[in-house]
Amino acid sequence: MESIFEPGSTVGVLGGGQLGAMFAGTARRLGYRVVVWDPDPDAPAHRIADQSFPISFGDHETRERFVDTVQAITLEWENIPAELCEWLEQRRPLRPSSAVLKTLQDRLIQKQFLSSSLLPVPEFAEVQSGHQFHQAVGRLGLPLICKTARSGYDGKGQLFVREPTDIAQFERILAESSSGTRWIAEQVISFVRELSVLVVRSTSGDTRVYPVVENRHEQGILRDSQVPAAISSSDVEVACELSVRAVTALQGIGVFCVELFQSQEGHLLINEIAPRPHNSGHYTLEVCTVSQFEQQVRATCGLPLGEVRLLSSAVMVNLLGDEVTAVTSGEGCREIFSTTGASVHLYGKRVIRAGRKMGHVTFTASDGKTAVASAQQFMSRIKKLPSAIPSPLR
Ligand code: ATP
Ligand code: MG
Repeated sequence: MESIFEPGSTVGVLGGGQLGAMFAGTARRLGYRVVVWDPDPDAPAHRIADQSFPISFGDHETRERFVDTVQAITLEWENIPAELCEWLEQRRPLRPSSAVLKTLQDRLIQKQFLSSSLLPVPEFAEVQSGHQFHQAVGRLGLPLICKTARSGYDGKGQLFVREPTDIAQFERILAESSSGTRWIAEQVISFVRELSVLVVRSTSGDTRVYPVVENRHEQGILRDSQVPAAISSSDVEVACELSVRAVTALQGIGVFCVELFQSQEGHLLINEIAPRPHNSGHYTLEVCTVSQFEQQVRATCGLPLGEVRLLSSAVMVNLLGDEVTAVTSGEGCREIFSTTGASVHLYGKRVIRAGRKMGHVTFTASDGKTAVASAQQFMSRIKKLPSAIPSPLR
């Protein structure tokens, strides 16, 4: 049987963004000590850690100190260097594993894996040269969305190719990008909605699936998430089934978020999988008995998984860039703190940048309509603020 790290043990988390901070807060509530490793001294999770390492992931002395301090390790960011994960994994349980990360860190490898596991994904092609790009355009047609195979988040490193002038623009980018940069060109799905499903899987292969969430993005950045998604029960069933199959095929241990598109024809396709709690799962903090962060603690430490019961409807709205000032100062501050059912989360990031996730507000209500109405009222107020989202990148 796998060993259990009981409360009182020390858990290490790689990455110290808001996801790491919410993980750390939850782990500490459960009596664990938390060690955060993130090179950025301003990373939000450092403030909540029992011990923190604001040092480069490449530092060998730090990895020795980190591993000596912790009993089990998890992560809040999928782009942790693979060599570090492999090294740590030989010494302490790392959940999810480096093998899972290797598959998910690279969009091409991820899509190839899903497709070979007979899971539906948008048609795609590998692009490294102008010749490959022309072949991709010939085979997949336009429009395409081209994404760098590695790194990138919140739509960064992505470009829509809709018409012949975009082809020339992408060719220039391709020519200018450093040699060996791999891209994935994907068919653009004209979806009716985007969905996400959180799947938790334990060391013994026990799985739990949270309710399906409906997400809206603006310029590639998550704007808001509504739960439960307003879709038919058969769509819920298919979305959950695909998501569990994907995480099981990966042999993943931990919390995973499967992002899906629902096409106009009603088909569900997997967009991508994050091997960690997800922005669209923040509602679990308020309206589920066990949050995504508590599940991450449980899965990492080998504890039994918790229930995924939804206690009420919710809409989560991200606070992007300057929008954060709508809840931290003036009339807006008084208004949001006097709104029934509104839970404010501020990540404590010092630098505000357009499109940067600075916090979120979750609106909860016993009926979906009330939660949606409160969220919409709030959004119409923050929309009036300038430059929250970067000007179109695409
Ligand atoms: P994040 O890490 O924030 O989830 P990301 O930068 O990793 O995002 P994706 O999830 O691949 O990137 O893309 C961001 C958004 O861009 C998607 O949620 C969707 O709105 C849009 N998008 C991506 N791929 C496609 C596609 N093939 N067809 C249509 N829209 C797409
Ligand atoms: Mg995504």
